[in-house]
Amino acid sequence: MPDTSPLPRHDAGADDARRIAVLGATGSIGTSALDVIARHRGWMRASVLAAGSNVQALIALCQAHRPEHAAIADPALYIPLRDGLRDASLATEAHAGAEAIDALAAGPDCDTVVAAVVGAAGLSSTLAAARAGKRLLLANKEALVLAGELLTREAAAAGAEIIPIDSEHSAIFQCLRSRDASVAGAGVRRLVLTASGGPFRGRSRADLQAVTPAQAVAHPKWSMGPKISVDSATLMNKGLEVIEAHHLFDVPGARIDVLVHPQSLVHSLVEYVDGSTLAQLGLPDMRTTLAVGLGWPRRIESGVAGLDLLAHGRLEFEAPDLDAFPCLRLAWQALEAGGSAPAILNAANEIAVSAFLQGRIGFLSIPELVEQALSALPDTAADTLEALLAADARCRQITTTAIARLPHA
Ligand code: NAD
Ligand code: MG
Repeated sequence: MPDTSPLPRHDAGADDARRIAVLGATGSIGTSALDVIARHRGWMRASVLAAGSNVQALIALCQAHRPEHAAIADPALYIPLRDGLRDASLATEAHAGAEAIDALAAGPDCDTVVAAVVGAAGLSSTLAAARAGKRLLLANKEALVLAGELLTREAAAAGAEIIPIDSEHSAIFQCLRSRDASVAGAGVRRLVLTASGGPFRGRSRADLQAVTPAQAVAHPKWSMGPKISVDSATLMNKGLEVIEAHHLFDVPGARIDVLVHPQSLVHSLVEYVDGSTLAQLGLPDMRTTLAVGLGWPRRIESGVAGLDLLAHGRLEFEAPDLDAFPCLRLAWQALEAGGSAPAILNAANEIAVSAFLQGRIGFLSIPELVEQALSALPDTAADTLEALLAADARCRQITTTAIARLPHA
């Protein structure tokens, strides 16, 4: 029988146990992370849990994982959190507000941070963890899109190791281990990100006019939070991932390709100058990606079964349809433009997706609003956090106004 438990076991609470802060603990990535962590009790444990506003779900996670700290982003929810923890007889200390989450991410009670807050709201805590030199398991791709240069620079300066928690980027991260990283360029010709194509693959633009939020979040292969599910349906998710890959692996957008692969078993590929193409394969379950990040460089149990290619049979590939799904083209353009353009792309998309999920705008308005924002706002140089946050705020404002002016809003 293969040895599937290569980790040394320690007593729970041993001093050398890896202490992990899970930010966005109640979400899809957060709960998958906690599932993997719980499989390795003693060797790693969740010491900090943070969430946006769901106090009951956060308390339930505290009962299961017994962290030292729990934080809720909404300051108005401090008392319910504190009282709920006390009523559950937990020693977990309650905190509230974004600043408290930043302080916990940077503080002494964790050495690893799973950054799994959704949207630009996660930038501040992600940056705090990077500046504090933590091992950063980065799921919050919007932080990289909004402030990729700044975040990677600060992480490098503080010695923070960034491990991507996105199936495609984890695949590339793994495939890149087979080259000599000390040589500039290291023989990489291009990166190929795979995309499932989302729930509307194969539809024309006209067919997308009347799709509903419920149809958009029903992803055929992955179970994810509502925002990233809509991003997958518009292909903006792949666009954000192109920008994410650029920052993580220092490859220009022109050498990052996208290939639609409906089975979602090949998670991405790296092509080398010698003609070798390396791919990473696995079932579409983020616990594999999280186990890579949590255990790295060790391989640890994730609870995910191996891949039975015979059972799956066919692997198919096709080109993305940039006419039906213009968000991917807009993301490449924003990356090319640089400066504040990716921040504008991201902010307009967040506002538009939120309005779509609330039933206030149609599906096709999402790319239209993003395109409008990119042409309305100048892509100024943006190498400071203040400049990026100002572009983000301004874009949210003009996109909100544009939505209010839409006939059916
Ligand atoms: P989700 O909606 O399921 O969960 C989001 C989490 O963030 C929740 O715990 C919520 O309480 C928390 N949150 C929201 N606003 C907050 C705030 N202001 N402060 C603190 N916490 C806040 O989303 P998800 O699918 O888990 O995605 C999380 C991130 O991971 C996103 O950036 C997404 O793009 C990325 N990601 C997700 C997947 C996936 O399979 N779900 C895959 C790759 C990348
Ligand atoms: Mg992905």
